[in-house]
Amino acid sequence: MSSAMNLSDRAKGVPASPTLAITARVKALKAAGEDIIGFGAGEPDFGTPAIISEAAIESLQNGQTRYAPTPGTPEAREAIAQKLRTENGIDCSAADIIVNNGAKFTIYLALQAIINPGDVVLLPTPAWVSYKPMIELAGGVVREIPAGPDSDFKMTPLQLDEALAAGARALIFNSPSNPCGTMYTPDEVAALIQVIRKHPSIAVIADEIYEQLIYTEAPYCSMASDPEIADRVITINGLSKTFAMTGWRIGYACATDPDGAVIKAMTRLQSQMTSSITSFLMSSIPAALNGAKSDVEMMRRTFAKRAELIHGLIEAWPGVSCPRPTGAFYVFPDVSSTFGRTSPGGVTINGAMDFASALLDEARVAVVPGEGFLGCGPRHVRMSFACSDEDIKEGCRRIARWLSELS
Ligand code: PMP
Ligand code: GLU
Repeated sequence: MSSAMNLSDRAKGVPASPTLAITARVKALKAAGEDIIGFGAGEPDFGTPAIISEAAIESLQNGQTRYAPTPGTPEAREAIAQKLRTENGIDCSAADIIVNNGAKFTIYLALQAIINPGDVVLLPTPAWVSYKPMIELAGGVVREIPAGPDSDFKMTPLQLDEALAAGARALIFNSPSNPCGTMYTPDEVAALIQVIRKHPSIAVIADEIYEQLIYTEAPYCSMASDPEIADRVITINGLSKTFAMTGWRIGYACATDPDGAVIKAMTRLQSQMTSSITSFLMSSIPAALNGAKSDVEMMRRTFAKRAELIHGLIEAWPGVSCPRPTGAFYVFPDVSSTFGRTSPGGVTINGAMDFASALLDEARVAVVPGEGFLGCGPRHVRMSFACSDEDIKEGCRRIARWLSELS
């Protein structure tokens, strides 16, 4: 049957987010009463801290239900600027901030603001599934900088230098990384900044959404804390992961380029697209950033323990290697030693997609196959440890048994 309307080439070309698809599938299977252990969802399993919800409820009850300023209320923008100044060492003011409908849309707007058709955007891989489609929706061309488990999935300064020398408009830098679960140390960030200084026309989109969820002694280092490159960095962050607020859809960007051209451009784009975030959620931003620090620390400590637990269990699987997670809530084991083998249910495993699908069907455990993350991703699966200790133990037990039954 033919459709009454022709789809645009743009719509035909864009894939659905595989991470959201697997999350939806697991939720549906669980709702249908199936005994599934889900390592798919990239979202905290905690509730939003009460102080944040109360702020939003109060605003709603006080009638803050009209259109809000497109880039955010002055209070929300100032709270974000203050957070970035004090916690991230970024010299910025409220005028340098825009609040958007989730960090995902913030990245989309940033790319729409600075990328022209044909511009090359450097993407260290493996990388989160949405960067490539968003770069391409802006007309940009993705050039990968591949890294593997031997370097904790981090590009080297030399790789970056070579990629920049070949010409590029922007770099997307995501640390801690989704899907790799590893963070660049301050020394490693400093070495990359040295390279970026040498290439004055490159812009950096620094996705810092997992910046508070880190599990090493090393402190976090923001790209835009370096005064020499700060005016070329668009810092992206949001409330989704740090404050267990994925459904609220609150993200933000900071850019301190001369004249504020980037934030003004993003604001113009947003004014034609979504107008602003939901008005009565604006008050939850200062509430979260100023009032929920102890909740965040409690969640961080819990994630840190789970990181150790899941990594220890995975290390025991024969033939599977996996760097220790140092940030975000993901592990990204290399399962390629199973390729070419046959599952207990008779499926020949020819890649991560087959691995994940047979594992779900036969062991009732959901993981995200690595194909969508590019680079060496197809040899890996992503497991989120944003779930209980019991689920981690039971899920890993099921996987270990399933692995032992491969022929
Ligand atoms: N960046 C990364 C690396 C992510 O994993 C996510 C998760 N969705 C986002 C951005 C977007 O977050 P949100 O839109 O929920 O704020
Ligand atoms: N970022 C999360 C993930 O990778 C949420 C889903 C999405 O937005 O892709 O699972």
